[in-house]
Amino acid sequence: MIPSKNPIIIKATELFTDHYFKYWWEKHVNPIYKYKKTSGYRDPVHNKEVGGVDDSAHLYALALDFIITNENGQFVGQEKQSEIFNIYIKPFWPGFALDEKNHIHVNLDRELQKKIEKTLLIAGGAGGYILYNILT
Ligand SMILES: [Zn+2]
Repeated sequence: MIPSKNPIIIKATELFTDHYFKYWWEKHVNPIYKYKKTSGYRDPVHNKEVGGVDDSAHLYALALDFIITNENGQFVGQEKQSEIFNIYIKPFWPGFALDEKNHIHVNLDRELQKKIEKTLLIAGGAGGYILYNILT
């Protein structure tokens, strides 16, 4: 599918991804670890600049890059980050997760944007809220 160009759909999708991830993290990861988002939605130009793959989930606002920090917001280090990834994220993340070493990448299914678009068209602004509650 083609990523949406509608800024409202993009914003709604990004909000959904951020909220979903935050909720998921709080439920699955040891609370002594926090994350710091380093990249989310990217338009096609920006995606090319940073060397993102052609059909990257970042184009759909359904991807999140982050680093793992301690409670004081300090990076835990690459080795520790990989360890945390293997224990808490890789086995339990419902979509695609990748340890990129200097950051972690997670994304949800691309088809989700279609569902978000449909829900917003049907229910108007409340659609995002309804969808969020259904999926979490
Ligand atoms: Zn990424």
